[in-house]
Amino acid sequence: GSRDAVLTAINLVAGYGAAPVLSDLNLEVRPGEMVAVIGANGAGKSTMMRALAGLLRPIDGDVILDDQRIDKIAAHRIAARGLALVPEGRQVFPELSVYDNLELGANTRRDVDYAAEIEAVLKRFPRLRERLHGRAGLLSGGEQQMLAIARGMMAKPRILLLDEPSLGLAPAMINELYDVLADLRDEGITILLVDQIAVLALAVADRGYVIDSGKIVRDDSAAALASDPEVEAAYLGHV
Ligand code: ATP
Repeated sequence: GSRDAVLTAINLVAGYGAAPVLSDLNLEVRPGEMVAVIGANGAGKSTMMRALAGLLRPIDGDVILDDQRIDKIAAHRIAARGLALVPEGRQVFPELSVYDNLELGANTRRDVDYAAEIEAVLKRFPRLRERLHGRAGLLSGGEQQMLAIARGMMAKPRILLLDEPSLGLAPAMINELYDVLADLRDEGITILLVDQIAVLALAVADRGYVIDSGKIVRDDSAAALASDPEVEAAYLGHV
């Protein structure tokens, strides 16, 4: 990868049993980029996210955050170094308040002025302000996804990994969510995004990769991928 990449995967191999899901996967995300990875069901997108974040120990290959290898260190240390994963399925703590969920997002950092930072995050996610002291489990699905992303932002990460943020959300909520993602991109937050709705992911991203059977098979600007007839036929029809 290039020297200034925030996150680089080199020949990454990962999986669960004898046959790896990911084989020799290469990608990089540069500062301020939003990069989308698109691919069919079961292509290995979530496996890739988990391997990058240290939740799944890679079998082989390198994962580099800034200029340090992270593929052999524990997930919580990777988080402390600035990689925040918002996993599939908006995993908030349902019994805790929205406020406490946000506060937990910053627990990898020291000397945090929680009130000030929560205030800053709420500016981006105004829906959460109205529910700040209510239980997170009472939020709608879309609001929980917003909370999961907001909690990721509380870590002030070098890079934010978003795994299937639109999964299971109503169309209106998906649009609202993608408006927020466009704002984050415009502000230069570095993001690696996976979404089943490839047309949305490519519309918001700067660059994209196509993953097929655990390998990257295309790499281009998001606009070029979105207008490519082969990509369109294979991935953009299922909205
Ligand atoms: P989807 O959008 O359907 O989640 P994906 O591209 O994210 O697809 P993965 O979830 O990474 O794909 O799954 C890739 C392959 O790994 C699939 O064949 C899946 O069955 C398998 N797999 C995923 N999780 C596990 C697991 N915990 N144990 C064993 N196999 C798994």
